[in-house]
Amino acid sequence: MRSARESTSGEKRLSKTDQLRKLPSVDEVLRLDLFAVSQRHSRQQLTDWVRQGVQVCRSRIINGESLDEANVIAQIIEFVRQQQAADAGQAIQHVINATGVILHTNLGRAPLAPLAIDRMIQAARYANVELDLASGRRSRRGQRVMKLLAQLTGAEDAVVVNNCAAATMLVLQSIASAREVIVSRGQLVEIGGGFRLPDVFRAAGVILREVGTTNRTYLSDYEAAVGDDTGAIIRVHHSNFRQTGFVTEPTIDELVAAQRPSEIPIIDDLGSGCMEDLSVYGLSEPTVTHSVRAGADLILFSGDKLFGGPQCGIVIGHARWIDRIRQSPMMRAMRVDKMTLAALEATTEIHLRGDAISELPVLRMLSADAETIRRRCEQLIERIGGPSGAEIVACDSQVGGGSVPGRLIKSFGLKFANSDAETLAVSLRSGLPAVQGRVTADSLLLDLRTVHDHELEPLATRLRDALAGGQDASA
Ligand SMILES: *Cc1c(COP(=O)(O)O)cnc(C)c1O
Repeated sequence: MRSARESTSGEKRLSKTDQLRKLPSVDEVLRLDLFAVSQRHSRQQLTDWVRQGVQVCRSRIINGESLDEANVIAQIIEFVRQQQAADAGQAIQHVINATGVILHTNLGRAPLAPLAIDRMIQAARYANVELDLASGRRSRRGQRVMKLLAQLTGAEDAVVVNNCAAATMLVLQSIASAREVIVSRGQLVEIGGGFRLPDVFRAAGVILREVGTTNRTYLSDYEAAVGDDTGAIIRVHHSNFRQTGFVTEPTIDELVAAQRPSEIPIIDDLGSGCMEDLSVYGLSEPTVTHSVRAGADLILFSGDKLFGGPQCGIVIGHARWIDRIRQSPMMRAMRVDKMTLAALEATTEIHLRGDAISELPVLRMLSADAETIRRRCEQLIERIGGPSGAEIVACDSQVGGGSVPGRLIKSFGLKFANSDAETLAVSLRSGLPAVQGRVTADSLLLDLRTVHDHELEPLATRLRDALAGGQDASA
């Protein structure tokens, strides 16, 4: 820095104009070399923050604060440090899910099985995604995954795209373009995130042919609508809402049986992708195999809902339709990356082995009995050690992710009634690993159904720190 400037420090207060005039330039601050260019933050990013820091100081001076040169530099440095810390906290990172919502969309839906995570890491390097290692020749992308999916579901063939929304679009566009697709008015739903079925139809270039009413649609409604222009019939599972009362709609079995002679393809948009009979756990979700046996031509579901795998949209069904879909130019635009394929392959293997309930986190969490969760609560209290003010309370978990709406699963959690709920929640979210709980009325609740056993130790550590911090602040 210029020596002229140094000589001013320590002298009597400067006028506002002088203070403003003496504000350092961005380059001057950067030249101080106080900010290590971290791996996370580029020079460009630091420059932006320094510029903002200088602006902040300028505003303070204008508002009458008196800042000498040393103060200005210190404040800019502090400002940049705060930005660095806040930004690092925003990076995608591990979060302990103590909300009790199993498929938490904001937390990335299904957590993967260890085997799927291992395979994903392997695939992150060079991997034989389109290479047959035996012959050294090029192979079809993810060929083995498609074969396993067909084996698992009993369908003839499969294709995989980015998510079920993409699958819906791709299927409609490739098999019914410019033709009518029949759908019940009771199923014209919004999937979420503003993704509405009528808009999807429009975007896919098919003509929406609504039949029936919101609460009642009969087989005869479909039959009356079928004609020369019919390209397909789609059934959409009510996955994110429940209709009760005076309601009826044909089952997939009835729809298939009624349309069999006409050869009009029946599409079953299942969404949740349930492979197991979950009725023993009090959940009634339609299974994928049921739709295959019923004879639906194409069945669509998400990879990251009850299937328990990575985000993707799985399409299974008759080979002639799957072939048609595979040849669509949209397919190339919607195909999944190698890491998704690797994780999906591992998840499918686990289903095939019959180990889904014990090995897939989603199903393990869903099937755990309340007593197991209560014991987990006791273990957590033990690990926290000292007095925490935590109390074990009964609570309800949810499947979430737009699956099995309104179904509550009996669970247990820790309630921290002594601490300020919001302060504790903020403190738990802002550390590593981050912890997301549930703030109810005036207390924080941690539902341990969605916390894995291996997360208990880090969770106990985070709680000890957060509770101690809370006490310090109030002291
Ligand atoms: C969830 C769901 C979708 C959307 O699936 P994404 O994988 O989230 O795109 C589509 N249809 C139904 C019936 C669903 O339940």
